[in-house]
Amino acid sequence: MVNTEGQLTGVRNDVALAGLNHKCGWRGTTNTLLNFGEGKFKVATDNTASDGTGAVGYLVGEPGRGLGYMFHMMNEARIGVGLAATMLGMAGYEASLAYAKNRPQGRPVAGGTQKVVKDAAQAQVRIIEHADIKRMLLAQKSYCEGALALELYCARLVDEQHTGSVENADEARLLLEVLTPIAKSWPSEWCLEANSLAIQIHGGYGYTRDFPVEQYWRDNRLNMIHEGTHGIQGMDLLGRKVLMEEGKGVKLLGARMMATAHKAQAFPDLADNAKALTAALHKVTQATQSAWSTGQPQEALANAVPYLQAFGHLVLAWIWLDVSASCRGENSPQQTGRQAAAHYFYRYELPKIDAWLNVVGNRDMTCANLSEEAF
Ligand SMILES: Cc1cc2nc3c(=O)[nH]c(=O)nc-3n(C[C@H](O)[C@H](O)[C@H](O)COP(=O)(O)OP(=O)(O)OC[C@H]3O[C@@H](n4cnc5c(N)ncnc54)[C@H](O)[C@@H]3O)c2cc1C
Repeated sequence: MVNTEGQLTGVRNDVALAGLNHKCGWRGTTNTLLNFGEGKFKVATDNTASDGTGAVGYLVGEPGRGLGYMFHMMNEARIGVGLAATMLGMAGYEASLAYAKNRPQGRPVAGGTQKVVKDAAQAQVRIIEHADIKRMLLAQKSYCEGALALELYCARLVDEQHTGSVENADEARLLLEVLTPIAKSWPSEWCLEANSLAIQIHGGYGYTRDFPVEQYWRDNRLNMIHEGTHGIQGMDLLGRKVLMEEGKGVKLLGARMMATAHKAQAFPDLADNAKALTAALHKVTQATQSAWSTGQPQEALANAVPYLQAFGHLVLAWIWLDVSASCRGENSPQQTGRQAAAHYFYRYELPKIDAWLNVVGNRDMTCANLSEEAF
């Protein structure tokens, strides 16, 4: 323990090391379980119980306001978690891209008239030439580069809270309130999925420790758990953030999305995506209203995670449309890749929101009402 000058007093606080956590990933850091006040160390100070047991704690700030203080730190920490998930996703993408360019296996699909012909005499191709490998690479690219753009956008909003005009700073605050659960949860889920695809591209080697991708997945699996689990993020979004200040934050976000859709409509190759974004925004808005139409939190929040997933996909569709509309005119393979990742997101990912929103909008109680005995 320390005195008020911060110097060691030589008195040991009653905090005991119960053991180490043996983790799935993040093995470069040590996690421990601490027991407070179990009586292992007697603390002879005025603050303790008369028998000398009990750990000494210190009040920071005013009583009853601890959670509020913690969230000063937590909101930016959650963007940090999203960024960590993103970069692990990126690492897997780079590793699987390099592997796919080098690994020879299989032959191209050939033939015609509903018959696949494979000529064993032909040389094998590298797996990056197979459509399914390209699908898994493009999925990773759309998840990870989209997530990176989202995290950078949120980081800019954090800055604008301090540097913008009063009006801009307040808008940045509102947008961050709504976007923080997405910035935390979306990369945690989908860049983890990217890591799973990176393992898949490596085939059997992906499941071994000879290649780094299994570690990326193990490390990334933490991100849906710490700093607020997925379930907690879902309830924060649907139970708090979309309702706060009479929906002001979510309306502002919707207006930003519509502005992007309007800008993108001017480009013929983006017009369909602009329309799809507008339709998705409408569906999410409707589902939000339906979820709360009975005013019963148990019904509204029964499907908070599917709501979080649909909202997250809507946000990422917006981000990708903004990226597509902003990076024009450059004729390079990188630009082709970016546009392809955006199209991938609109064609393979955005349609998933219908299934998620159906259970939200119908206030489906299949899970919530099931008795314990039925499991
Ligand atoms: C490697 C590692 C490092 C960590 N580092 C730190 C650290 O430095 N500092 C720190 O303070 N903590 C740390 N943690 C703790 C971490 O923040 C918690 O594990 C996490 O917040 C989840 O809490 P929990 O483990 O108590 O799970 P629980 O709260 O028991 O959750 C279990 C499950 O129940 C769900 N659930 C819980 N409540 C509800 C509800 N009301 N409605 C619906 N579903 C619910 C959750 O979503 C989850 O799926 C660390 C954890 C790990 C694994």
